Formats: sequence, structure tokens, C-alpha cells
Amino acid sequence: MRVLLVGGGGREHALALGLAGDPAVEALFAAPGNPGIAAVAELREVTPTDPAAVAALAVEVAADLVVIGPEAPLVAGVADAVRAKGIAVFGPSAEAARLEGSKTFAKDVMTAAGVPTARAYTCEDAAAVAHALDEFGAPYVVKDDGLAAGKGVVVTDDRAAAERHAAECGRVVIEEYLSGPEVSLFVVTDGEAAVPLLPAQDFKRVGDGDTGPNTGGMGAYAPLPWAPPNLVDDVMRDVVHPTLAELRRRGTPFAGLLYVGLAITPSGPRVIEFNARFGDPETQVVLALLETPLGGLLHAAATGTLGAHPPLRWRDGAAVTVVVAADGYPAGPRTGDVITGADRAGIIHAGTRRDADGTLRSAGGRVLCGTATGPDLAAARDAAYELVRDVELAGSHHRTDIAAAAVDGRITIPG
Ligand code: AMP
Repeated sequence: MRVLLVGGGGREHALALGLAGDPAVEALFAAPGNPGIAAVAELREVTPTDPAAVAALAVEVAADLVVIGPEAPLVAGVADAVRAKGIAVFGPSAEAARLEGSKTFAKDVMTAAGVPTARAYTCEDAAAVAHALDEFGAPYVVKDDGLAAGKGVVVTDDRAAAERHAAECGRVVIEEYLSGPEVSLFVVTDGEAAVPLLPAQDFKRVGDGDTGPNTGGMGAYAPLPWAPPNLVDDVMRDVVHPTLAELRRRGTPFAGLLYVGLAITPSGPRVIEFNARFGDPETQVVLALLETPLGGLLHAAATGTLGAHPPLRWRDGAAVTVVVAADGYPAGPRTGDVITGADRAGIIHAGTRRDADGTLRSAGGRVLCGTATGPDLAAARDAAYELVRDVELAGSHHRTDIAAAAVDGRITIPG
């Protein structure tokens, strides 16, 4: 199988490692890729959000499968353009990707499908915003309606800050606050059959103890020792299958990766958000534990044959990833700094570039992540931090408490 992977962040580096490790993948191309991905794939230049350019590249490299990593190309219709060339693609159509691209659309689908989620209003002016904030009370949850790379959400007790964010965004979704630990569940689907991966937890806030602004994600771990044993079965029954059925009913089946972001509240799991692609950095830990060859799994989903795919196999133990972020991230990350200590197994590149002379430099807010597995969560956590300790990048920062509450048995479900 010849595979073209679209994207160039940490998620794509993790996907590239998984695809390169599949004996059925005989050639792997990545566009645009990154210096970490370059070790396992042939890099090609492309604008990932240009449907015609990606489709032409897929034809040029004779791809049997195109795997689309980030959300922006999906929303731009890249999967549709590749499919139109008769090439299998892992990633939903632009229509189905609206599940991520528009919070209002996602709420609409959830309501129609009876999926448990926060009550919400879409607001377009200050009066509607004030009314919604009054109704739900603090903590206030204000979300930009469109794509915002995980940074369009403000959760705050500060009414003025909530109003300010709403005014900056224009069209916003204001919703009820959901309390309880968060879970990311990835589901591989061909639109009908659906296969859950291991649940993971990520860390959205920039600072230790979940303080500071939201980010794209500062670390993750899997599996979740504290999760209720029937969590995945319940979410498949109450969330995933009804959502997939509703999208089929609308004539826009969702094939690809359905990311279900959940809060485990006192009254059960509630959907915080859907995404139309693998989460970053949870992908790094989930794929580190997946033993089943990744290319075959994604190809089955892309060709409507997932129902015939054998059950997934997982490695024992746990995985942890710790993100190293650039100085100033998330408000205003500084780029261009020299990185050393990063050329080793377990370092996933997220925002890096390499000079002609081989020097590695930061090129994004989240620069790289240290990803490790171990016989248990504590061992994996220690190994991930050991990787991060050896990385040198001026002004960089990382959270020091990734997976700590789970290791210490401090996560409880309220109720
Ligand atoms: P989203 O982009 O919708 O995933 O939101 C980013 C983060 O904001 C989530 O991971 C949660 O930590 C938080 N969040 C979003 N919606 C809610 C909600 N209704 N209640 C509590 N926290 C929320």
C-alpha cells in the first residue's frame, strides 16, 4: 500500500510512525511533513488546505490511501477532492467535517440524535449573549462558532471576560458548564461500522493544576485507570452510533476519525465537543499502545470494509506524552530558536524546522513532545519526563503534572 499523509504536526508525526511500522505500507509520503516525519517518510510540498493540489499530489505519488491529519483541510474539502480521483481517503467530507467546523451544526446533530451534551445557545449579538450568560450562570463557557485550533473557548467565572470573548468572536455558542473529568475517545469509522480506540485524557490549560489559558493541548496519557468500566460501551451506544446514524440520515455519512470529547459528569458522560480528526497530543499516546497495524485499519475505514476488520490489539502498560511549548505560547509564541537533544526515539516533532546545515529550530507554539510507554502509568510518565529533560530550547515551558493526578489516584467522578 502506498500512503500519502497530509499535515505536519505532532499528530502527523505519530501517525507517520504508526503507518511506517505497518508492514503493508510499502511507501509513505508526507506533505508537508516535518523534520521528525522526514525520518520515516518522503516529504512533499503542498498547501494542505488546497483540495486540487492535494488530489494532484495523491495521483502523482500513486497513493492507495490518503490520510488527512488536521481539521482545516477536511473543512476545506480535501477528502472530497481526493475521493473524486477514485483514491481511498481517511477523513470525512467537508459536509460531515462540519461536526467540528461549526459548533452550532454539532449541537444541531446532537439534539436530533438525542446525544447527551450541554444545553447551549448560539448568539449573534450582545443582548443574546447577556441572556445566555444570565441563564447558565458562572462558570461561563463561551465558544467561537468556527474553527479556532482549540483556542476559541473561554471558560471563566469572570463575567466581563466572558462578554469580551463573545464580542471578539462575533457568532458564539454559550453553554452550560459541565463538571467532571474529561475523556477523549477516538472512534475509527467507515460511516456505519465504528471501532473505538483506547480512551485518553489531555491537558488543555497551559499551566500546572489546570491554570492559565486554553491551549491546543499540553500533554496526554492513556489508558485511564479511573474510567468507569462500561464507559466506552456506553459512549458507543449513546453517542457514537446515534450520531453516525443521524449523519447517514442527512445523506452526509461521516467516515474517518470521530473524536468525542466528553466530561464524565455526575449524571453520566456528556459530549463537550466533536472533532473530525485525531486529537493532538492524545494521538501520540493512543497510537503508542496500538499493536494492530495502522495502515490496514485506516484503509478499511476509508473503503467501507471496517465491519470485516479484525478486533484491535493493544500493548500492555501505559503511554504518556509531555508537550514542550515555545516561549510565549499560547498568547504569542516565539519561533526560530535552536533546539538540541531532540533527535531521539520518543521525541515527536510538532512545530520544528531544519536549516540547510541541519540545525533544528522551533517553528510553532507546541514545538515537540516527549512520548514514552511503560509497564504502568508512573513508569511511562517518568520516561516521558526524562525525554523532555534532555531537550534544550531557550524559553520553552512544559507542564510538570501530566498524568500526575491519575498516577496518584486523585481523579474522581463527582456525584
Ligand atoms: P472545546 O474546544 O469545545 O473542546 O473546549 C476546549 C475546552 O474547554 C474543553 O476541553 C474543556 O476543558 C473546556 N470546556 C468546553 N466546553 C465546556 C463545558 N460545557 N463545560 C466545561 N468545560 C468546557
